[in-house]
Amino acid sequence: MIEPVAGTLGRYWHLLEDGRIQCDVCPRYCKLHENQRGLCFVRARHNDAIVLTTYGRSSGFCIDPIEKKPLNHFMPGTAVLSFGTAGCNLTCKFCQNWDISKARAFDRLQNQASPEAIAEAAVRSGCRSVAFTYNDPVIFLEYAVDVAQACRERGIKTVAVSAGYICEEPRAEFFRHMDAANIDLKGFTEHFYKGLCSAQLGPVLDTLTYLKHQTNVWFEITTLLIPGENDSPAEIEALSRWVMERLGPDVPLHFTAFHPDWKMLDKPATPPSTLRMARGIAQEAGLRYVFTGNTHDEAGQSTYCHGCGERLIGRDWYDLTAWSLTSDGHCDKCSTRCAGVFDGAPGSWGRRRTRMTVQEQAVNA
Ligand code: SF4
Repeated sequence: MIEPVAGTLGRYWHLLEDGRIQCDVCPRYCKLHENQRGLCFVRARHNDAIVLTTYGRSSGFCIDPIEKKPLNHFMPGTAVLSFGTAGCNLTCKFCQNWDISKARAFDRLQNQASPEAIAEAAVRSGCRSVAFTYNDPVIFLEYAVDVAQACRERGIKTVAVSAGYICEEPRAEFFRHMDAANIDLKGFTEHFYKGLCSAQLGPVLDTLTYLKHQTNVWFEITTLLIPGENDSPAEIEALSRWVMERLGPDVPLHFTAFHPDWKMLDKPATPPSTLRMARGIAQEAGLRYVFTGNTHDEAGQSTYCHGCGERLIGRDWYDLTAWSLTSDGHCDKCSTRCAGVFDGAPGSWGRRRTRMTVQEQAVNA
C-alpha cells in the first residue's frame, strides 16, 4: 500500500496525457501516480502536484573547513556551516555518504530549521558560507534556494556540493543562488555512469559547461578514483583533456581516494600512488590546480603559482600550512593572479569539524 505523502509544493513538473505527473528536476524524469515517490525518495506526488517532503528538515548541521567540501580556492581556511537532508537522485554503488543519501526513514531528519534560522546560525558561529552537502541539493532545490536567499541577505555565501545531475531550467534557478560549487565528475565514460550510478555522463558535462560559460559561480571538480573502475591512465587523460579544452586551465580538479563502502566492498582503497599518477596526467594536460584528496600529501594538496612556481597555499589534508598570496589573490613573489575567490587573510578554522544546532551556538568543539 502506498502511504500518503505531504510536503511543500515543488517546482518543475507537468501532467502527462496518461494521468501521471512527470518530475522535471533531473534527467530521471520520474513519472508518478498519486502518493508515489520519485527515485530520490524526497519528491513525491500529492494532491496532483509534486511536493518536496523534506522542506525545512535536515540530517544535522556541522561546521567544517571549506577545504572539506572540497574547495581549495574559495575563501581558504574559512568555516562553512554544512547540512544535508535525505535521499539522492543517483544510485552510486560506491556511495561514501550512503547513510544519508540512501535514507528512507525520516527519523534521520530530526533537525528542523527555517532558512532564516540557518542563515542566522551561520552569522552567529562566524561561518563565511553555508554548504548544501552530504546528499545532493538538487533534489531539495526549493529549500536550498530559500536558504541561499536568506544567506545572501546576511552576507553569507552559499556552496553547492552536487553531482550536477539536473535539467536545464532548474539548473539555471539553482545555480543563480549559489556562489560556489563542487561538482562530482564521477568518471568519464557512459559505461561507468550507467553501470555504477544508473545515470548518464552527458548532463553532468552540460552542467560543468554551463557553470563555466554562463555563470559567475566559482566551481571545482572532484573525481573519486576507484581501483579498476575509473582509474585507468587513458580515462584520466580523457577527463583532464576535456576539462582543459572545455573549461580551461583554471578550474581546480581534485582526485580523491575511495574506501570500500555501501555496495562496493570488493574493491580496495585507492593507493596514494594512483592519486599521484592522476595528478601528474592532469598537470601534463595543462591544468594548473590539481589536487589529491583523502590522503596526506602536502605536495599534492598545495597550490602553486603558474607564473613562477612559488607555493602559494600549503595544505596538509584540511590544514593550511603556508600562505604566499596578497589579500586579493596575487602571488607574493611575481604578482601573477591565482584563480579563485580570495578575500583578505586566510581563515584560521583548521581541520576541526564541530556539530551544532541552528538555534544554539556550537556545542562540541
Ligand atoms: S528529482 Fe527525484 S523525483 Fe525528480 S526526476 Fe529526479 S529522481 Fe525523480
